Amino acid sequence: MGTTLKQQPYIQQIPQEWHDGKLAEIAMLRLDVVHPVISGNKYYKLKENITRCKELGKDAILTFGGGYSNHLIATAAMAQVEGLRSIGIVRGIYEELTPTLAECTSHGMELRHISISDYKQKNDKEWLKQLSAKYDHPYIIPEGGANEEGRAGAGDIAPLVPGHYTHIAVSAGTGTTLAGIINNTNVPVYGFAPMKKGSYIADDIRQFITTGRRDAYSVYDEWHCGGFGKYNRELIDFMNDFYQVTGIPLDMVYTAKMMMGIKQLVQGHVFSSTDRLLCIHTGGLQGNSSVKGQLIY
Ligand SMILES: *Cc1c(COP(=O)(O)O)cnc(C)c1O
Repeated sequence: MGTTLKQQPYIQQIPQEWHDGKLAEIAMLRLDVVHPVISGNKYYKLKENITRCKELGKDAILTFGGGYSNHLIATAAMAQVEGLRSIGIVRGIYEELTPTLAECTSHGMELRHISISDYKQKNDKEWLKQLSAKYDHPYIIPEGGANEEGRAGAGDIAPLVPGHYTHIAVSAGTGTTLAGIINNTNVPVYGFAPMKKGSYIADDIRQFITTGRRDAYSVYDEWHCGGFGKYNRELIDFMNDFYQVTGIPLDMVYTAKMMMGIKQLVQGHVFSSTDRLLCIHTGGLQGNSSVKGQLIY
């Protein structure tokens, strides 16, 4: 399955001028480069799921997501590469496909739109049983790839962090990626939730920490810019400035909000001048299509 990767992830330094020399080092682990569609953490969360699907002798994957879901599009593309059928259960009825959903379709994903209230049953055992029967018993991945295989796969991100880093920063939606990393590193991890009151995921994550490191992370939720998927002028300006200084494109839903938060934490002296921080770029650049005209990249 390694053949799925178009490029190996690498670490890129963020220049001193971005943090006024307030840290010994800040760098970005570029997971966004691994594949143009199966980008960032999504590849890692899916890979063990694909393996499991094949072990079970199943030829189709069914999963869940909203109209702008990076997970849905990554699943569609990865299933196609792996010769598997894919079915996407979409949250809400769209009259017209979003760019994300249109691309899911172009990767052969069969979409089924359901109402937002029906979608709430996405983890209900009985409902899933009926859904499974309807689609000839596919391999089912929960929304966001948030399962044991997802966490196990995300664990493979941890060894990409060289030993001299003192902190890891990662964006957290379901917290699957963060949990996978925590379980496989000794370095403290800062999570950044891009939704209002998102720090509730800290509790979700805790139950999936299999090591003695249940307190080795914290989740910030101040930098949501109005809510999940929402943005404001400040965020767009931040993304353009960041690109100008670093050459690194950020996605507006997750990594831009994380870096905005990190910048404020750095300015607020939350880190010491001997700290070495590695920020994980979890990808998701396809999500910038709606603000493309406002970005310099
Ligand atoms: C999906 C996604 C996340 C969230 O990952 P979780 O494992 O659900 O916490 C973070 N960043 C990007 C770019 C994503 O697409």
